[in-house]
Amino acid sequence: MRIDIMTLFTDMCETVLSESIIGRARKKGILEFHTHQIRDYTLNKQKQVDDYPYGGGQGMIMYAQPIADCFRAVCEQAGTRPHLIYMSPQGKTLTQERAKELAKMDNLCILCGHYEGVDERVLDALVDEQISIGDYVLTGGELPALVLADCISRMIPGVLSEDVCFEDESHYSGLLEYPQYTRPAVWEGREIPQVLLSGDHKRIELWRRRQSLYRTKQHRPDLLETAQLTKRDIGFLATFTEENNADPE
Ligand code: SAM
Repeated sequence: MRIDIMTLFTDMCETVLSESIIGRARKKGILEFHTHQIRDYTLNKQKQVDDYPYGGGQGMIMYAQPIADCFRAVCEQAGTRPHLIYMSPQGKTLTQERAKELAKMDNLCILCGHYEGVDERVLDALVDEQISIGDYVLTGGELPALVLADCISRMIPGVLSEDVCFEDESHYSGLLEYPQYTRPAVWEGREIPQVLLSGDHKRIELWRRRQSLYRTKQHRPDLLETAQLTKRDIGFLATFTEENNADPE
């Protein structure tokens, strides 16, 4: 998969995208990231990328022209027109479901806004989709773009050691993940649930499913409305109480 990012802060994006799991996948050639400096596409001597809003008001608005020219260059370099996403607090909130769909595309381009935002005309002319990472406002689209790129990248085959790494996690199946523990088995007097030491994989799987269901019921009951539940899950949920939640076996 190839992801192009159009931004005024390429170093900020490159730093994050060169580290850890994503950085390694990039080196192996599983993921291709290209960051593009929008400022390089300005036509004025000062390399100014923004101006005052028509009609007055606070802040500065990014010009349409350098963004459009930058995108045209991306299309040329990629040899195709990528699906263009504008990171915006006005977009649809990012979900695992949408990230799963985007991970199936071969080419994506992400536009990061800054200041008060972007001239609406370039959004109307070019942008296919607007995505928000939550109902709050940040100073720029770089962190949201990196959140989106990370979320998509880890679902690309080969980025994580096994697909089960992400399939098992919170939200992928519509539920929150069960609690996880590592060594030692007793830490500062706190023991891990004994079932995890039993070696009985069926019992462990059942315990994890029930923990997942209980956590979701406790922290995100709204997710249960759309999660795919079996008759057995529904039965479990009906029996959970505050008292038995610590080890609902
Ligand atoms: N004036 C804009 C508004 O009220 O909708 C907000 C502009 S914000 C200060 C600057 C840039 O940060 C936006 O153009 C967008 O790219 C990015 N941004 C801020 N909050 C975001 C969020 N919650 N999700 C995605 N992008 C966001």
